[in-house]
Amino acid sequence: MKKFLQKFMFTFVFMSTAVCLLCTGCSRQPEEYRSTGTAMGTIISQTVYVSAGEEAARKITEEVTSCIDGLEQDCLSWRLEDSEIYRINLSAGSGQQEALSGFLEEVLEQCKKVYAASDGAFDFTIGNVARLWNIDSWAGMQFSGSAVTGGQQSAAAEKSGLEFTLPTQEQLAAVLSCVGADKCSIEAGFISLPEGMQLDLGAVGKGIALDEIRKLLAQHSEVTGAVISVGGSILTYGSKPDGSMWKVGIVDPFDTAQSLGTLSLPGGFCVSTSGDYERYVEVDGVRYHHILDPHTGMPADSDVKSVTIVCREDSQTAAGGLFSDALSTACFVLGMERGMELAEAFGAEVLFVDKEGVISMTEGMEQYFSASRQ
Ligand code: ADP
Ligand code: MG
Repeated sequence: MKKFLQKFMFTFVFMSTAVCLLCTGCSRQPEEYRSTGTAMGTIISQTVYVSAGEEAARKITEEVTSCIDGLEQDCLSWRLEDSEIYRINLSAGSGQQEALSGFLEEVLEQCKKVYAASDGAFDFTIGNVARLWNIDSWAGMQFSGSAVTGGQQSAAAEKSGLEFTLPTQEQLAAVLSCVGADKCSIEAGFISLPEGMQLDLGAVGKGIALDEIRKLLAQHSEVTGAVISVGGSILTYGSKPDGSMWKVGIVDPFDTAQSLGTLSLPGGFCVSTSGDYERYVEVDGVRYHHILDPHTGMPADSDVKSVTIVCREDSQTAAGGLFSDALSTACFVLGMERGMELAEAFGAEVLFVDKEGVISMTEGMEQYFSASRQ
């Protein structure tokens, strides 16, 4: 009987150890989980590899979405009354110093670096110019029919109930006199905006979100890898279970249903693209897009059709998302020659598609990019 009991105990202990080992073995094997949602007024697509089961993976993707929402609502939005940017914009011209959170102060310092290095091609004080163009109401709007010159509205737009008027040169000149990041003072936790200046972090919001998402994922050791797209700006994180590279597609700016090619990247990179196809209005066949030249107030008219930037997430004070997003806007405005120099100065890789469809890229980008068609 004693022997039987010993044998039973041994078998029981052996079995339970084996089951335990199997279980931990299972939970250590990361599983893929995908989710699509919206935040920051854009589409968030997530593929995460998590070693703690589907429920944990779902929770992490929800945390990512609320992190982006929180960033927008508490800090970055120029529309929402509870955001820090809204409060700062409200103080413009008051002569008062407005308190800055440590987070936003750091963001604005990084933005100022790109402003200075790009000779103002990227300028986060462009708010009133963007408002004049009414960029945020453009999605899917096309205007045609009667000629529209400043002040008039097209027949088609009138019919559809949508309102759009091209700004006049006088209106543009008035708001442009209040643009220029060097005219706002940021010091020791305070900011002061002159009369008529409005901050707009629209060009970097998605990139800043990527930087925050990376910090969030790093707090979850069960996340072994992820690729996350915030409205087309992409973060690669960690690694895939099979060790292969993350694949990031680049849209063909001449046919947005097609891919121009694919980037193969390890974890720890951010990718941002700016193109004239992303948001625009067409008025009688003329396209007015959403990337403005801060020196003229008009949609930038360089030799670039689209530009993609790749930044290592750990380069330059761990703000790879912010830099890739700011640099893609700046490079679009500056054009290929000066844009290439700017990207290189920030240690970023860049791929340009010019208005004839010719692709040019930095040597570093060649290692990542493979074209869809030769
Ligand atoms: P997307 O948001 O489509 O990725 P961008 O990152 O280039 O495109 O940002 C465009 C937005 O940034 C505009 O909607 C506008 O609010 C703002 N913006 C436009 N031109 C500039 C500029 N030259 N510098 C800074 N912000 C800009
Ligand atoms: Mg940008």
